Amino acid sequence: MLKIENLHATVADKPILKGLSLSINAGEIHAIMGPNGAGKSTLSYVLGGRPGYEVTEGSVMFTPSPRHAGLDPVSTAAAPEWTPDQVRGDEGGMRNDEGGEVDLLALDPHERAAAGLFLGFQYPVEIPGVSNVQFLREALNAQRKARGQEPLSGGEFLKVAREKAALLKMDMDMLKRPVNVGFSGGEKKRNEMVQMGILDPKLAILDETDSGLDIDALRTVGDGINSIMRQPDKAVLLITHYQRLLDYVQPDFVHVLAAGRIVKSGGPELARELEAHGYAEIAA
Ligand code: ADP
Ligand code: MG
Ligand code: MG
Repeated sequence: MLKIENLHATVADKPILKGLSLSINAGEIHAIMGPNGAGKSTLSYVLGGRPGYEVTEGSVMFTPSPRHAGLDPVSTAAAPEWTPDQVRGDEGGMRNDEGGEVDLLALDPHERAAAGLFLGFQYPVEIPGVSNVQFLREALNAQRKARGQEPLSGGEFLKVAREKAALLKMDMDMLKRPVNVGFSGGEKKRNEMVQMGILDPKLAILDETDSGLDIDALRTVGDGINSIMRQPDKAVLLITHYQRLLDYVQPDFVHVLAAGRIVKSGGPELARELEAHGYAEIAA
């Protein structure tokens, strides 16, 4: 689903990612752990297409699911000069009849989202004056439009929102409040899980989504990831400094990121080793 090869990236001309390679298949949950400053957040920003994060070498290929169809495969001879602007096509939608892989780095951030990529962040933004319901309906309908699907009406959207909120045991009142304003850390995370449930991504990249959470909130986040994302056609990249979220979400693979590249990969036991011995020993 995601194939990162020899990725090099700079921030403010400073090299941060230095030859990072990682492959994620559908149905897999991967955890990336690593010391502070290793480049974990830089990786998630680069994958999300955040301005200021410049890729200087390497490639990232992504295979949108048929459900997220719509991007012309760049790997076929039929579209050798494909550029992101061309994918919108005459119908105003993106197409991917072949179900092939696309060059993720060539897509605008909103196109990456439409292709099925979801990014969760350590510090969710607050948007005063815009309710969660408004925000999420806009976001979902923008994605639907990019895929050439009809927008959902207010009523149709509320039905989806209610269903996802119930799944995550979130009060509908919270969905009517302005985005994240006055939310506790745990509420922001629960809200992020509802966002993820509504947008229904193919690949979720969650950066330190466990930071600052108490045990109840950690369980909510864990349940959310498991119920929404643990499916054969989906995948998760969990970026975390600590092992504790991994008690709730069992990763299939654990990778250690140090000094801009993956220095070690293993199974869930690697996370426990790191917890016991620290990064210095393993990353050395
Ligand atoms: P991690 O998430 O693993 O803690 P980051 O990706 O946030 O690491 O940061 C990696 C390195 O990039 C750090 O040395 C950090 O100081 C540097 N860095 C991150 N953002 C910027 C920026 N906007 N300008 C300059 N350096 C940055
Ligand atoms: Mg950090
Ligand atoms: Mg970080």
